Amino acid sequence: MFFFRQESLAVNEEYSMRNGVPAIEASSETPFYLPTGNEVALFEHAHRHRLPVLIKGPTGCGKTRFIRHMAVRLGLPLHTVACHDDLTAADLVGRHLIGEDSTYWVDGPLTRAVREGGICYLDEVVEARKDTTVVLHPLSDDRRILPIERTGETLHAPEDFMLVVSYNPGYQNLLKGMKPSTRQRFVALRFGYPDAAREQAIVEHESGIEARVAKQLVSLARALRALKDHDLEENASTRLLVYTAILIQGGFDVVAACRAALIEPLTDDEETVAALMEVVHATFGR
Ligand code: ADP
Repeated sequence: MFFFRQESLAVNEEYSMRNGVPAIEASSETPFYLPTGNEVALFEHAHRHRLPVLIKGPTGCGKTRFIRHMAVRLGLPLHTVACHDDLTAADLVGRHLIGEDSTYWVDGPLTRAVREGGICYLDEVVEARKDTTVVLHPLSDDRRILPIERTGETLHAPEDFMLVVSYNPGYQNLLKGMKPSTRQRFVALRFGYPDAAREQAIVEHESGIEARVAKQLVSLARALRALKDHDLEENASTRLLVYTAILIQGGFDVVAACRAALIEPLTDDEETVAALMEVVHATFGR
């Protein structure tokens, strides 16, 4: 069982500077992505030299958007797999299915990506069953092969095949962490929430909200992230800020939008919600 998506779009965008922040004027086909460091150049180098990439960072900080952007930029199809704790090596590689008179083989998304080329993006890879590392190891070192035990085939990854994995180091427990022997096969990028100016630019771009409100939302998120005494598994993400801004831009009351899109998604504990709402009231002065 897996979620599988393939994208192939044209590359077409330009960089420009706005208030010292490099902004991307994205074409309608290129997903908008505002770089926060050297990640674009690093990814391009990794692709050129056929190195696999690992992206770690909290939920909603732009990892998926970055990969979608890079796929279009490099003109590569994108095969995305959302990993979960039941995902096995067979889900990635493929399996025999029973037909009317015989069984037939169906490629999994990893095999398909190796056959067709492009980026295979395994989102939240540490969630997957441990047997998946057996298929990832020979693909992520310089052999770049995918042995398919059940069909006896060994596939050699084409030049433009690229393995990309991501995970959130925040909520993994020790058992779920990525094994060092797997981790050290990848070029690793650490993502965090963008700085205030960039996050404001992202919120404005994604929602169309006015700069003044976007700025207030960003300072609210930064205040929430700085709180230490609430034991939240996740923090106010850029994604949640964008959702909040979309509600406000759609005419929803500011405080109600913050409750619905920024605070309630963070916790089920009513006392914690009340405490976090205090920060919302303080930010908007009501
Ligand atoms: P992740 O994969 O890290 O969980 P996403 O890539 O889905 O997070 O990001 C969530 C949303 O936040 C995106 O859909 C986009 O609206 C916004 N976003 C976050 N960072 C950026 C960025 N650097 N440039 C453009 N949009 C961003």
